[in-house]
Amino acid sequence: MRKYLLLSIVSVLAVAAVVAYTQAPQAAKLDVVKIKDDLFVIHNDFVPGNVTALITNEGVVLVDDKFEVDSANVVAEVKKLSNQPIKYVINTHHHADHSGGNAKLQQMGVMVVTSEQARENMVEGKQPGLSNITFEKHAHIYLGGKNVEMYYFGRAHTNGDIVVYFPAQRTLAAGDMFTFGDATPQLIDYSGGGSAKEWTKTLDGALQLDFDTVVPGHGVVTTKREMAKFRDSTLTLRNRIHDMIVQKKTRDEIVKMLQTEFHWAQLHFDRSLNGALAELQ
Ligand SMILES: [Zn+2]
Repeated sequence: MRKYLLLSIVSVLAVAAVVAYTQAPQAAKLDVVKIKDDLFVIHNDFVPGNVTALITNEGVVLVDDKFEVDSANVVAEVKKLSNQPIKYVINTHHHADHSGGNAKLQQMGVMVVTSEQARENMVEGKQPGLSNITFEKHAHIYLGGKNVEMYYFGRAHTNGDIVVYFPAQRTLAAGDMFTFGDATPQLIDYSGGGSAKEWTKTLDGALQLDFDTVVPGHGVVTTKREMAKFRDSTLTLRNRIHDMIVQKKTRDEIVKMLQTEFHWAQLHFDRSLNGALAELQ
């Protein structure tokens, strides 16, 4: 009984996450988590994505900026942390729950940085707030004597995912190539160039960096160890699907497995199932 109750709570949360993933009816309630004296996470439950803020004496660097409806609240939280202006926002990928605040921030003079692929996805999706600066594999922002590193390691959740590394703070902002908690299982956005097959290798690239603390795309701030466990789950996921295809299991049987073992919700089936079945034969 208890187990069923827990399962249904998880699925209600997952449904709530799905609803809010593409559209935000109202602004999320935010809370701020301190990682280091100069590094903070503007967090909320599940959706929209986490925002990471690095404070320097020449301005603030943000990673992701939630939905447009959250923008004023994000700016207000940053103001509480520093009287310095926001100078750059780095989007970990193109999805609106991570980049929806771009246009409003650009009106304040903020420069938006993404991978080249993420910008192409934004153009294709006719999104507002296109990035001003892009890179292919690796870039730095040096501001106020501090160093922010950005890396593209390949396809995962989309084909434009990057991680943002704060070496002095030993912290990684992972974007949606690492989401933490059963309510936000991994979502392979095939229409955005995602790949279940490439995902593990992409995470291996990110895990080579030297850090202790991870800000997942969604979920609470956690450790590198949890990210490594998630990496293993991406391998299990694709092996499970592949094996069931080889064993000629029905689509319904695969759906049931994904619900029970990987907590997939409707959004995951809509965005990921056909692509995964084609990719993992
Ligand atoms: Zn996303």
